[in-house]
Amino acid sequence: MSLAACVYEVKERMAGAAKRAGRDPGEITIVAVTKGVDVGRIREAIAAGLSICGESRVQEAMPKLSVLHHAASWHFIGHLQKNKVKYIAGKVDLIHSVDSIDLCEEISLRAQKRGIIQNILLEVNISGEEEKFGVLPSEVADRVKTMVRIKGVSLKGMMAIPPFSEDPEQSRPYFRRLRELRDEIVRTGISPPDFRELSMGMSNDFEVGVEEGATLVRIGTAIFGQRG
Ligand SMILES: *Cc1c(COP(=O)(O)O)cnc(C)c1O
Repeated sequence: MSLAACVYEVKERMAGAAKRAGRDPGEITIVAVTKGVDVGRIREAIAAGLSICGESRVQEAMPKLSVLHHAASWHFIGHLQKNKVKYIAGKVDLIHSVDSIDLCEEISLRAQKRGIIQNILLEVNISGEEEKFGVLPSEVADRVKTMVRIKGVSLKGMMAIPPFSEDPEQSRPYFRRLRELRDEIVRTGISPPDFRELSMGMSNDFEVGVEEGATLVRIGTAIFGQRG
């Protein structure tokens, strides 16, 4: 299948999932995950109607950002180390993977130096797996309270990666839990007014993500095929 056909199919499946859940597909943003994809293919994807790209590794993101920063909006979705924040803060429209107050404060510092506000999401370890990044669900309220007071960053919502499974239905309870967490946080009034984004769902489970309330889905393989 051509890249344009893959993009078309992903959009169709996304719209189908939105419809099943009684949602407006316009509320959901596809982040095209471009790790392992060269600049030429990324340009093709942009031409095929994708306007937001996501990178998960700083070293790989930097050269692509410098060439394509005008061609698309960029998100950073991978684990971010404090010493790499300087390469990312202010260069991307959203960082999905803020998993500690320490990291948030480093982003704040860089953003303030550059005179910008960096949009961020709080990464939640929704399954509580030992090897996963993110704050535990029980810590979320406390972290949100702290992060809203940090200058130079704007907390827009949360991101989570459930345990991998071939069966997308296995992701559903985790996605649902993240949505419920957001709703709880909003209800308690501790979050900023536009705390609404839920970044959840990848190639294998994005339709379930959308059914459970995702506002951002991060899709690589279903668009670009299997990469090395
Ligand atoms: C690679 C990656 C994705 C995309 O995964 P696919 O299965 O290729 O769609 C999404 N989110 C993160 C954080 C990733 O690293």
